[in-house]
Amino acid sequence: MKVLVATEKPFAKKAVDGIRAIFDKAGYQTVLLEKYTDKAQLLEAVADVDAMIIRSDKVTAEVIAAARNLKIVVRAGAGYDNVDLAAASAKGVVVMNTPGQNSNAVAELALAMMIFMSRNRFTPGTGSEIQGKTLAIHAYGNVGKLVGRKGKALGMNVIAYDPFITDAAVFEKDGVEKVDSVEDLYSRADFLSLHIPATLQTVKSIGYDLMMSMPKGATLVNTARKEVIDEEGVMRAMTEREDLKYITDIAPEAAADMAEKFGKRFFATPKKMGAETAEANINAGLAAASQIVDYFVNGNVKFQVNK
Ligand code: NAD
Repeated sequence: MKVLVATEKPFAKKAVDGIRAIFDKAGYQTVLLEKYTDKAQLLEAVADVDAMIIRSDKVTAEVIAAARNLKIVVRAGAGYDNVDLAAASAKGVVVMNTPGQNSNAVAELALAMMIFMSRNRFTPGTGSEIQGKTLAIHAYGNVGKLVGRKGKALGMNVIAYDPFITDAAVFEKDGVEKVDSVEDLYSRADFLSLHIPATLQTVKSIGYDLMMSMPKGATLVNTARKEVIDEEGVMRAMTEREDLKYITDIAPEAAADMAEKFGKRFFATPKKMGAETAEANINAGLAAASQIVDYFVNGNVKFQVNK
């Protein structure tokens, strides 16, 4: 069995060593393709592999077609919008993610972003505190839950909306108030922490109306995906309301324009960094390797996302 680890943005060395150790033990061959700069390198590397571990790397229909022996792709991370699921399914290739493995890293970044914006992006001047403010969580999945619990620990009033979680106990046990509409969520949010996946339903779903409904001085915190933002709408709202702020992990298409227009009210990380901790790297990388072995040995498809 031959497994390709294709990472434009490489894993930490410790993660690579751990992945290799798991495959060595299983008797599999590990092939590393790191920091590749051209799609052609990826197309060549996938030609004869049975499995693949990727991070934010794009697995398009072309990549899947070029991978003649491919049986499984594991996205070491949560979001899998970088994989063409239809093309994989059509060829019988199993696609998995590693949910939860980098959630803590992302949750810590979301909280850090709130404090950073409350303190004028660490520039001189009087800031404000996050304690006592309302933290509204849009989607209460792995990351959302951790943000909620950490927000509670910091003395915030935490509310959350997730239409796919019907069991109120999920929110209650964290001391989080469940709200029943997205409008209610945004209209109460001093900080809105975004954790929805990028899907057909969510792309460009956060825009002018929701932003305009937020309380005075509110901050939108996006550690999800840039695609879920209607950038034009957000910019219009921030132009009309000089109290609103936006911070995002992944620069928007209009980043330069936003930086120029909104100054300290806007910030984008230069490179997506939510999951960029040594711990998250190792957790997600090792989980991906273990899931591949478990799939080949036991047929375990628990984390398959293209069922
Ligand atoms: P998750 O799958 O555990 O949770 C997603 C939640 O979204 C689920 O509870 C689901 O019910 C909810 N949801 C789905 N559609 C929704 C909708 N239309 N409205 C409201 N809720 C909806 O995922 P997660 O691990 O919490 O990650 C959330 C997102 O964060 C990922 O999809 C990914 O795009 C992003 N992410 C970013 C980074 C980063 O580096 N910045 C790292 C990890 C994840």
